[in-house]
Amino acid sequence: MANSGQKVVLITGCSSGIGLRIAVTLAKDEKKRYHVIATMRDLKKKDKLVEAAGDAYGKTLTLLPLDVCSDESVKQCINNVKDRHIDILINNAGVGLLGPVESISIEEMKKVFETNFFGVVRMIKEVMPDMKKRRSGHIVVMSSVMGLQGVVFNDVYTASKFAMEGFCESMAVQLMKFNIRLSMIEPGPVHTEFETKMMEDVAKMEYPGADADTVRYFKDVYLPSSIDIFEAMGQTPDDIAKNLTNSLY
Ligand code: NDP
Repeated sequence: MANSGQKVVLITGCSSGIGLRIAVTLAKDEKKRYHVIATMRDLKKKDKLVEAAGDAYGKTLTLLPLDVCSDESVKQCINNVKDRHIDILINNAGVGLLGPVESISIEEMKKVFETNFFGVVRMIKEVMPDMKKRRSGHIVVMSSVMGLQGVVFNDVYTASKFAMEGFCESMAVQLMKFNIRLSMIEPGPVHTEFETKMMEDVAKMEYPGADADTVRYFKDVYLPSSIDIFEAMGQTPDDIAKNLTNSLY
């Protein structure tokens, strides 16, 4: 449970990658400014987080189950937080989807929107009433550089992040008068399982339905240049966590 003076931070998608590192970084804050509620959809995946949290586990870091695609899970999770009081919500959970639109079913596309767009909307709707009542709070949303710029064969992922950008820009204006901050993070490439899976998907990707010029552009121009950018400028989850800590309210 949080001490008075500690900010309660709830983070989604803490089983791996960026979410895990943000949770650990905040929980290990030298001044113990945060009580972190690290959430994940399957608590059986908690070992990596618990190990990285070390002594902070059970003190400044506790765990709750949360699937952002489920209304019930979101409600239950927030109800399990003392007084439903969350100072900082970090919407990090996200999924990718790569490939030509011709080869992806509408059902698969909807799943991406369920997580990357509606998952964030569900969380914001659930925490907003308490933040408004207290006239204080900070909501952080993990977008992507692909929330600002379209990328070949990432059409659906890009669209889900664009949708979220639009939603958040509109919400930010409405939340401002309640003294609630809403921030977007738009990382370029970050070394995580997400990125590893994306590269594996690219390696075995087939391009049914896509035209030869687009496939050639993707394989011969886009991919090599992204790998160069990645090698030169790729961030680590710890870079993201550190920068975020410096900008929390
Ligand atoms: P990871 O795949 O390592 O982590 C994604 C996390 O989201 C996992 O904990 C995963 O849980 C969780 N998650 C997925 N679906 C749900 C759900 N329905 N409910 C709750 N949790 C869920 O990827 P990253 O750490 O790289 O990605 C984190 C965020 O950063 C994403 O929003 C991504 O779009 C964004 N991002 C990543 C970049 C990169 O290059 N890595 C670049 C720009 C943005 P589970 O283990 O259960 O699958």
